[in-house]
Amino acid sequence: MRTFAELYIDGAWRPPTGTGIIEVYSASTEEAIGAVPAGTAADVDRAVDAACRAFAGGWGRTTPGERAAWLDGLAAALKARVPEVARTIAEEVGSPISMATSVQAGSPVAIAHDFADLARGYAWEEPVGHSLVAREPYGVVAAITPWNYPLHQILAKVAPALAAGCSVVLKPSEIAPLNAGLLAEACLEVGLPPGVLNIVHGTGPVVGEALASHPAVDMVSFTGSLRAGRRVATLAADTVKKVTLELGGKSAFVVLDDAPLDRAVPAGVKNAMLNSGQTCSAWTRMVVPRSRRDDVVAIAERTLAALPLGDPLDPATRLGPLISEPQRTRVEGFIRKGLEEGARVAIGGRRPAAFPRGHYVEPTVFVDVSPAMAIAQEEIFGPVIAVLTYETEDEAVAIANGTIYGLAGGVWSADPERALRVARRIRAGQVDVNGARFNPRAPFGGYKQSGVGREFGVHGLEEFLQVKAIAR
Ligand code: NAD
Repeated sequence: MRTFAELYIDGAWRPPTGTGIIEVYSASTEEAIGAVPAGTAADVDRAVDAACRAFAGGWGRTTPGERAAWLDGLAAALKARVPEVARTIAEEVGSPISMATSVQAGSPVAIAHDFADLARGYAWEEPVGHSLVAREPYGVVAAITPWNYPLHQILAKVAPALAAGCSVVLKPSEIAPLNAGLLAEACLEVGLPPGVLNIVHGTGPVVGEALASHPAVDMVSFTGSLRAGRRVATLAADTVKKVTLELGGKSAFVVLDDAPLDRAVPAGVKNAMLNSGQTCSAWTRMVVPRSRRDDVVAIAERTLAALPLGDPLDPATRLGPLISEPQRTRVEGFIRKGLEEGARVAIGGRRPAAFPRGHYVEPTVFVDVSPAMAIAQEEIFGPVIAVLTYETEDEAVAIANGTIYGLAGGVWSADPERALRVARRIRAGQVDVNGARFNPRAPFGGYKQSGVGREFGVHGLEEFLQVKAIAR
């Protein structure tokens, strides 16, 4: 059991104002594994007040070099906690420990270092004619984050915000909050100045909405569902806050007719199944030439057979459970809906009999899917791939672009130039060609209803900066 009884506010653990508790459960054993306080609007007031004092009291005027040094210190403290963070996230999210170690716990360390480097190398001022154009911190930032890559998402906001000179009030996901407690411990260990980062646990409607509407918050950086993102943007509009939104996706992987299927299909399946499909940028629609469909399904089946489903704490496991029962109910609801609408399950589709406990769902591949079906339009957020077929390249692009989302995508062709040409036509913020590696310095974010703004790299830093022109 890992219980955090207090909130990290103004540089110390503080008792919450309310008495509510949020219990945290293991995704695989369903047992209670910890708890955090359920924060209130009064806790938000205290945290925002501390962030305002920190910002005005000097943090906003520190040099980029000083802020970079704090971020490097934080990265080192997180690095020392990699095994603990990985185990915590393997339990609360259900991510397999191998991936929890490399991605869930490893990425936050890399992100903190990366923004330290960016702060050191960034052109904070530049002359434009007789004006000096200066980049200044936006101010007090509210960061609201989801559960699927919990600490990665937190650092994607906190690291650039601190690099920019902003102070932050973070509301982590109430479903996977324990990792944020470990971040607070890291902040205490390095002695981050009071109020620079504050963490208020709680639910979206209570703590999230209090932050999104707080008059002293200058900017809201939100990652989560489209539904909650809309609500946050609406609340923030009243006080004209800057809002960035990293929302859902229904990303397409376009397999062109000359693609080597034995390389493309495994890459696409592994992408879609990462974190049991609970990945915003997952390629959940596989768009394949009609004549190759059966070959695609056969290769997908072989690929899935080599991804063992199991206990997240077992190093051999590649697919864990879903995070919670509501999440499994949602995914199973989509599987039912797919069948009702006339699609056919080619692989999986059930609860695996071997796991009576834990929120497991078999990795599932649908065929006979038409672009209008719910399973081809809506974000399922589980291990479900919809295979859609096309006759022409134009049709493939139209299918890829045919949802309200535009977060990510992939293209594969034997001809890299052709793949690039098609990648340019996909209306999404991040597209990979021929299985290219993830680039943590490249901007990440959505077109259309996948969001507003970008995270990571210099674009991610600039979201937290105001631009001031001083004519001389
Ligand atoms: P969610 O929207 O339920 O919750 C996200 C956060 O918003 C949580 O901290 C939650 O408490 C808070 N929240 C909920 N209602 C709120 C409200 N009314 N006001 C203020 N805050 C509120 O999302 P989730 O289930 O935690 O995460 C899954 C979603 O996140 C998926 O849609 C996924 O695609 C998306 N996501 C997007 C990205 C990205 O970078 N684009 C990354 C990860 C996850």
